[in-house]
Amino acid sequence: MKVFLDPIKCSGYGACADICPSLFVIDEFGFAQLLNGGVVAAGDEDSARNAAAGCAENAIGIEG
Ligand code: SF4
Repeated sequence: MKVFLDPIKCSGYGACADICPSLFVIDEFGFAQLLNGGVVAAGDEDSARNAAAGCAENAIGIEG
């Protein structure tokens, strides 16, 4: 499973990093950055899906 982030859509509220801190971090400007190239570690699939579902800007996509 791999996650994609559209930085144009991101408004930077940080919900993704709260929900799935292994995949998302908030940078010094307050916007989300992907960790690990977006590759979801085993066991983090549900939190990755929840982060995508919880993004109010639909900035997070999932493949696989
Ligand atoms: S939840 Fe969406 S809008 Fe909020 S920081 Fe994450 S990617 Fe950006």
